[in-house]
Amino acid sequence: MKKVFVFDLDDTLMVGTDIFPEVFDVLDFLYNQGDVPMLLSKGDKVVQDRKFSAIDAGNNFFRSRVVDQKTPEVFEKLVGGFMTYHPWYSVGNDYISDIAPALEVGFKGIWIPNETWENQDDTDKIRSSVDWSRCIEMKSLMELKERYREL
Ligand SMILES: [Mg+2]
Repeated sequence: MKKVFVFDLDDTLMVGTDIFPEVFDVLDFLYNQGDVPMLLSKGDKVVQDRKFSAIDAGNNFFRSRVVDQKTPEVFEKLVGGFMTYHPWYSVGNDYISDIAPALEVGFKGIWIPNETWENQDDTDKIRSSVDWSRCIEMKSLMELKERYREL
């Protein structure tokens, strides 16, 4: 089955204005599988638009949106017309914002927490409430390619 991947931007594909080096490799890989990568970012429109230009969102993603809040409705609308694609994945560093609302409307989650010693306790707390039947955790974006068969 062809899959839809809705990527978060900040701390998932970019840190500040730097794009993670593996991003384009992973996107190429997904396009080669016939999958559909999309981009969904929350935040200030002007700031996000600048980042969307940096990552060439219009060319690199099938759909891309900046929103004030990632609600279940936002996720649902974004994958409108892709009902035959399965599964839909939301990929992001923030379980509460990027993954949980997507799970409500039938997505699966790929959580890449960017764990540091500073957020270790919070990350562990979130880990204990994750719906592991519908979410997998990865250490880096590159695992999307390496563990693709598990998806
Ligand atoms: Mg993020």
